[in-house]
Amino acid sequence: MFGLLGVAPDLDFLVGAHSAYTHSLGATVLVGLAAWALVSPRSGLIALACAAAWGSHLLLDWLGTDGSAPIGVMALWPFDAGYYLSSAGWFLPIHRNLAQPGIAAHTLRAIGLELLLIGPLAAAAIWLRRR
Ligand SMILES: [Zn+2]
Repeated sequence: MFGLLGVAPDLDFLVGAHSAYTHSLGATVLVGLAAWALVSPRSGLIALACAAAWGSHLLLDWLGTDGSAPIGVMALWPFDAGYYLSSAGWFLPIHRNLAQPGIAAHTLRAIGLELLLIGPLAAAAIWLRRR
């Protein structure tokens, strides 16, 4: 469920508003509140975990590379409608034009880099969970 929440902000591709409202602090709070109301009104821990899963997407997109306008994510909405992108550039941009030459090799490099950066954290989390 948390993995699905982590990728859910990109559903905004379906409505042509990528990296906007779903990639914001406001959406993260709404997800937490919805989870709290629907799933765990007695305990906020699951709601916090849901918000963290959603918010992790914003963080990772912010740390990435973006070559499509608008550049970055609307991270601080509703307080600020600006788009933000860190200068870290930890992740390669994902090309959306499937006819672009070399896209398969580029996508494999991007996946490999993401696994290299995130894989150890995921493995550590799984290891800690099993202990
Ligand atoms: Zn995204």
